[in-house]
Amino acid sequence: MPASASVPDPILVVGGGIAGLSAAEAARERSPGTPVVLLSKESAPPYFRLRLIELFDGTSDPAALRLHPSEWYAERGIDLRLSTTVASVLPAERRVVLAGGESLAYSTLVLASGSTSFLPPVEGARLPGVFTLWTLDDVLALRTALTGARSAVVVGGGLLGLEGAYQLSRRGIAVTIVEMVPRLLPNQLDLEGSRFFEAKVKSLGIGVRTGAGVACLEGGDRVRRVVLQDGDVLPADLVLFAAGVRPNLGFLEGSGIAVGKRISVDAALRTNLPGVFAAGDVAEVDGRWDGVWPAAKAQGRVAGLNAAGGDERVAHEAAPYFLNTMETRVASIGSIGAASTVPADPGAAFEYESCRDEEKLVYKKLMFQHGTLVGAVLVGDTSAFQKINAGVKAGMTRAQALEAGFL
Ligand SMILES: Cc1cc2nc3c(=O)[nH]c(=O)nc-3n(C[C@H](O)[C@H](O)[C@H](O)COP(=O)(O)OP(=O)(O)OC[C@H]3O[C@@H](n4cnc5c(N)ncnc54)[C@H](O)[C@@H]3O)c2cc1C
Repeated sequence: MPASASVPDPILVVGGGIAGLSAAEAARERSPGTPVVLLSKESAPPYFRLRLIELFDGTSDPAALRLHPSEWYAERGIDLRLSTTVASVLPAERRVVLAGGESLAYSTLVLASGSTSFLPPVEGARLPGVFTLWTLDDVLALRTALTGARSAVVVGGGLLGLEGAYQLSRRGIAVTIVEMVPRLLPNQLDLEGSRFFEAKVKSLGIGVRTGAGVACLEGGDRVRRVVLQDGDVLPADLVLFAAGVRPNLGFLEGSGIAVGKRISVDAALRTNLPGVFAAGDVAEVDGRWDGVWPAAKAQGRVAGLNAAGGDERVAHEAAPYFLNTMETRVASIGSIGAASTVPADPGAAFEYESCRDEEKLVYKKLMFQHGTLVGAVLVGDTSAFQKINAGVKAGMTRAQALEAGFL
């Protein structure tokens, strides 16, 4: 149907995560006269995905995680359509085609389709009793499977895997974490930091197998065992895969929208095609991907403003890493010399000051280059986190950092 003379085609947002919601809200704010349509594959209205873990507690109400009550959307004239999947995009016609065959015209388009948990192609990965952890449905399915489970294997030792393993363990389930790389949190911690953190995890009775890969899952009608590549067999009434995420890109096939590992956009969140923007986990901004909530929210806002005629840019700021799980805390700030961090000065060697308490499993390390504080690793005691973060931003000297009592 062609648009009538008085009602412009809508700003269409694909994906009801935090990026899509922020885009819809910003587009509405900037262009009150243009219809805004927010399409989400999920049946639940946008929610705090990063708080899903709270639902491991069987008494928690999923509705408590909603970002806004239902009437919020209607009040703002945001047309939220749930259980609505975009199957393809036709940029030449400025239309998207939905899974049911219906097509919708748009004036501008924001792609915010986010991520899906990666399920490695190992035999048995689709057996009953195998779970992932990205959507509300994932968590509700996992929650019902907790009753009666006595053993579990969590594949992946990143943020999701660690928190998942901790929650399972708290429910009396014997858990083993299987992590492919040789140590936990290799991008956030140095070798010594990983050792302290792993000791803490093990002190809670959680098994840790680093440098280990899954060969297959066995069990017949449902999963019972995980076989590792070295031949070891771990009992598993349930298996949680937290082995990374993949961007939701399938519906863009044939659209001509440029995709690298993710949708390629510039700092204004523009794709290669006019009127098409992308934000959040599904996008890489000038080749960079954060994969975190605050970045998705900020990008969604800029994409929404620009889709409504604005001319904004996202500022990239490397966020410090903070983890509060396993009855300890971990923080990683600035350049720490790990493979994933960019040294403040790539040509200069790191110097460091550190302290440790083996009994309390506390480890702290401050990193310096040219006598200036550039990063830190904290395990077990993150009380100085904010001050160190500010010190790194301010370029504090070594003497100032030590005098400030950061160790
Ligand atoms: C349990 C958990 C804990 C986390 N903890 C943290 C944390 O502590 N800190 C942090 O910074 N980040 C955390 N994250 C990561 C953070 O939640 C993500 O970075 C963020 O949700 C990305 O937002 P997004 O909107 O880009 O994508 P998503 O949240 O993935 O949302 C994308 C939405 O688009 C929908 N969609 C996909 N394809 C289509 C389609 N074709 N048509 C219609 N809709 C579609 C999806 O169903 C989904 O609803 C956590 C994630 C999880 C799962």
